[in-house]
Amino acid sequence: MPETRSNAARAPVEAIPGYPAGHPVAPNMGDYAAFRGGFSWDQARRELDGLPAGGLNIAHEAVDRHAAGSRKEHVALRWLGRNGAVQEFSYADLSKLSNRFANVLQGLGVGAGERVYVLTGRIPELYIAALGAWKNRSVVCTLFSAFGPEPIRARMALGDARVLLTTPTLYERKVVPILNLLPGLRHVLLVRGPDNEPVAAGTLDFAELLGRADERFSIAATDPEEPALLHFTSGTTGTPKGAVHAHEAVLTHHATGKLVLDLHPEDVFWCTADPGWVTGTSYGIIAPLTNGVTSIVDEADFDVERWCQILEQHRVSVWYTAPTAIRMMMKTGLAPLAGRKLPALRYLASVGEPLNPEAVRWGVTAFGLPFHDNWWQTETGGIMIANFPALDVRPGSMGVPVPGIEAGIVRHNADGSVTQLDEPGTEGELALRPGWPSMFREYLNEPERYAKCFADGWYLTGDLARRDADGYFWFVGRKDDVIKTSGHLIGPFEVESVLLEHPAVAEAGVIGKPDPVALEVVKAFVALKTGYTPSDALKKDIMAHARKRLGAVVAPKEIDFQQSLPKTRSGKIMRRLLKARELGLPEGDVSTLESM
Ligand code: ATP
Ligand code: MG
Repeated sequence: MPETRSNAARAPVEAIPGYPAGHPVAPNMGDYAAFRGGFSWDQARRELDGLPAGGLNIAHEAVDRHAAGSRKEHVALRWLGRNGAVQEFSYADLSKLSNRFANVLQGLGVGAGERVYVLTGRIPELYIAALGAWKNRSVVCTLFSAFGPEPIRARMALGDARVLLTTPTLYERKVVPILNLLPGLRHVLLVRGPDNEPVAAGTLDFAELLGRADERFSIAATDPEEPALLHFTSGTTGTPKGAVHAHEAVLTHHATGKLVLDLHPEDVFWCTADPGWVTGTSYGIIAPLTNGVTSIVDEADFDVERWCQILEQHRVSVWYTAPTAIRMMMKTGLAPLAGRKLPALRYLASVGEPLNPEAVRWGVTAFGLPFHDNWWQTETGGIMIANFPALDVRPGSMGVPVPGIEAGIVRHNADGSVTQLDEPGTEGELALRPGWPSMFREYLNEPERYAKCFADGWYLTGDLARRDADGYFWFVGRKDDVIKTSGHLIGPFEVESVLLEHPAVAEAGVIGKPDPVALEVVKAFVALKTGYTPSDALKKDIMAHARKRLGAVVAPKEIDFQQSLPKTRSGKIMRRLLKARELGLPEGDVSTLESM
């Protein structure tokens, strides 16, 4: 294997305290090493209730156990409508409404293991339906409402959708054209909007059914291994895969909500992800509810002004967002925050893509708090590696493994064996020891693809990383994105991070462009911050900065300016698309591409 080298990422390690001095709360996990040493998933299970009828059910842990106790009147969801409406649901409300939906499903003859799809925006009915479906032991699959008919069809057909909850508009536009291609679909339930559009023939009125249903429901015994969630991956590297998770996953959701996001009972928590992506269910629905906090759900799309206003007005204390959103805020500058008071805000976290060190530091400038990066995948179901409040944040690092998770850097050999690369600083594939509660149990209908993810007692993540001498993990790139140039392996992330240090650069995506001499050369695509215009002089200046920081081998040989970079709807830069476009090759599966 060619040797890897990098300058920027090996620069002296800077540390920012996880919680600044004088922080108002003590972290749930005060001493990482001690806690990790004493942690077991069995012990984590004891923090949950367990289902009275036997087993474990996500919805019981998320709402019913709070509804039966002292937190019943506590606000569980505060929903912010696109046009200014605010609706609050207590734990007792959510418990009763989801009971009603479980009864609706039972009344329709929908059974355990059958798949209930939700295709709506972020509206309260989505949350009620997911919880009710879990109570009925059905499998929940939430789809992003901006998908077109074909990606919807593909995902519904793969999962053999039995029930679909959607809105009249989405139904007409996106479902009617594919209806005859979904023979397994038995019931379509529509959530009517404020103008009370009539429901189409052959569909059911969600509100009417809910209104008629009994608000009492007893969840039947649920085996923790029963499937609960079907989630499609982001499609960043190819065709999205359907990852199946079991009720047992709630152990990871709860524990990481408490230890990584540091949720405390009085928190107002805002996870900005859409439930069409795994972050939006694991941390937009399940983890905040099991931890009994108030969760903000915003119906509207990203808007810097609106987001800053939500943070202030709703006194958000813990905020979980994504690098793309942070970079867009950085692009706009500090003006939208001017004059705002955010005394409640005490913890910032980020996931989905590597978080550039510049973005971590920007958090300190803008909010007085660093962003805590954490790493996980659809397949892992929950956070696996994280910067914790009790530890220093190392900007650019994903952090250290969650208690109960063993992570390693490995090489997958041609004979199927796995070699652990334990020497600090060695790059290799990031791997996890299988068996954590939220591990995916299958790729739906793709057993071979699933089997390929495991070797020699490890789950292989497909991401490359390295671990430093103190055990912090550093993301290098996805296996498919790594660039081979003149005998070196280069991870796009470190090049992109250095480009972002330049004052004019808002976003950067780096690919390897085939080259007859060097095998590949590093090519960068750059979007500029507001107020900067592309020019040759600017290009030269950015290149000079990159060469100074990275050295001539690693720095980009070419830079192209773009208005913005192609991203998935979950906010990930699609490097494979940058590459295909550069080389004039077919674009492949673009079902998750954000329209620009
Ligand atoms: P597909 O598997 O279909 O190509 P995807 O991998 O983007 O799509 P997700 O499961 O949504 O689908 O994303 C997980 C991936 O996102 C991780 O494997 C990793 O590459 C990247 N990622 C997530 N969080 C981080 C992080 N904190 N740092 C670096 N990379 C991250
Ligand atoms: Mg993936």
